[in-house]
Amino acid sequence: MTETNPFESLQEQLDDASEYLDVRGDVLERLKHPERVLETTLSVEMDDGTIETFKAFRSQFNGDRGPYKGGIRYHPGVSRDEVKALSGWMVYKTAVVDVPYGGGKGGIVIDPSEYSEAELERITRAFATELRVFIGEDKDIPAPDVNTGQREMNWIKDTYEKLENTTAPGVITGKALENGGSEGRVEATGRSTMFAAREVFDYLDRDMEDATVAVQGYGNAGSVAAKLIDDLGANVVAVSDSSGAIYNPDGFDTRDVKDFKRETGSVSGYDGATEEFTNEELLTMDVDLLVPAALENAIDGDLAHDVEADIVVEAANGPLTPDADDVLTEKDVHVVPDILANAGGVTVSYFEWVQNRQRFQWTEERVNEELEAIITDAFDAMIDAYEANDLPNLRTAAYVVAVRRVVDSYEGSGSWP
Ligand code: GLU
Repeated sequence: MTETNPFESLQEQLDDASEYLDVRGDVLERLKHPERVLETTLSVEMDDGTIETFKAFRSQFNGDRGPYKGGIRYHPGVSRDEVKALSGWMVYKTAVVDVPYGGGKGGIVIDPSEYSEAELERITRAFATELRVFIGEDKDIPAPDVNTGQREMNWIKDTYEKLENTTAPGVITGKALENGGSEGRVEATGRSTMFAAREVFDYLDRDMEDATVAVQGYGNAGSVAAKLIDDLGANVVAVSDSSGAIYNPDGFDTRDVKDFKRETGSVSGYDGATEEFTNEELLTMDVDLLVPAALENAIDGDLAHDVEADIVVEAANGPLTPDADDVLTEKDVHVVPDILANAGGVTVSYFEWVQNRQRFQWTEERVNEELEAIITDAFDAMIDAYEANDLPNLRTAAYVVAVRRVVDSYEGSGSWP
């Protein structure tokens, strides 16, 4: 099997949506490529005095609707094309939820588990120093992504502010509360995944109560989505992480599994499990709802033939290859796409940025209420497009809504120079 290139997946998704939109060829071409990509090499001193080098990227895909916005990922699999794809998905994610941003994404090719905290701080500050000329409160606003969180965001903010000799909390989101973060940001991605699941069940006239659920990935997105979906009365029967999957037909205490993972580093070995499986087995379980919450390309065309879930809600970015999408559409499996289902992260990042600019703090209740309104409105807009144009699936519907907004903004400004 050859690995699907996520940048090609993004371009294919745009081509699919463009069939239902009246978009000029040159505009479509522009929407399929980043405006610019920073590629750099960081040279950083390790604890033992040696110098190690790391490849790092930041892609600014499209800024027609506002400053570039998107996370920074630390992973050995980071590549130029992956970052380009992820930055493009951010463009259509911010457009489908209609927050005033463009799309960007960055990453360092690194396995952070192999480095000390002091080394990670130096690596992060070295990247922030390279990023300084690209980012800014009104230019490009990074955030957390895979293997980064409040700690890294605080370091980046601090490096930027020191170098610029200013205060600029809105230069980055996903910060700790004490450093200008927002209530509700940590849980936001999982929360929007839960809202998307609730809305699609409602749309399909299906009951969440006692619905069986499998969640692939138990990091920030997956563990929170599992907990909140569990709170709706569903039965989370299987969860996994990179160590493997655990299963219990009676359903898990999702909070307890999270505590276990925090203590031991993985879900495997959890004593409330009746059986252990592989990730591939979890993805093909006969459940009502499947939530892929790990990395890209979790389900390819071959595996999609074996998927038995009725509904898929994507908490990860790009978990289905375009081939998998075709197979699931054919099988009448409803997929709520990443750009809507996991958009809670960037939506609450937007709230954080608004609070930073106003030097004002919202309550968690306000954050969650405004997030719910944005996600349900976006869901309704996607369904309207799906039904009005008789579209093949919900992903194409979400792209039709999002691409229209980006194109309108681009064409409204006129082309210059
Ligand atoms: N990394 C998250 C995403 O993929 C959040 C981005 C943000 O908050 O800017 O949507």
